[in-house]
Amino acid sequence: MRPTEEQRFLTQLFYRHSVEIYARFDDWKDIDKFYFIPLYMEMTYSCGWVAEMAPDPVWLGSFVRCTLEHPELFQYNCPDCGKVVHPYRYVGSPLSGIVHLEGRCECGWHGNEEVSGWRIRASALRRQINGDKFRYCKHKLKHCILKDSMIGEVLEWMRR
Ligand SMILES: [Zn+2]
Repeated sequence: MRPTEEQRFLTQLFYRHSVEIYARFDDWKDIDKFYFIPLYMEMTYSCGWVAEMAPDPVWLGSFVRCTLEHPELFQYNCPDCGKVVHPYRYVGSPLSGIVHLEGRCECGWHGNEEVSGWRIRASALRRQINGDKFRYCKHKLKHCILKDSMIGEVLEWMRR
């Protein structure tokens, strides 16, 4: 599946505003339409074959929760001011094991931290996404029921 222009745009917005989005997680985490915003982060590595941290699209809520719940894997201190940085993307290679955690700090710094341990980070992210699948299905189902009832309304209206 290829990303739409809108999905690329949403992903860029997340990259730009990640500090605010992380800070307000508690406010939006229970709202399905925000939690399941599909991001195309291209967290892939390829050399003849392609290895992904997790297949795109990655849901915004799953990604943010994964970073927040595994500080030892994904968070680091800003080299400028020392505050905690929450990355907006993880990119690396399963061969070298090196991962770059791209992030932005409250102070305005942005860049990346190089760490090692590709597999442990990839599996943490995939576990989070799998854990959210049930909620995603319920969210989708609700949408379908909503659409069905709208078609129902149209039919009812036409038959009056
Ligand atoms: Zn900083």
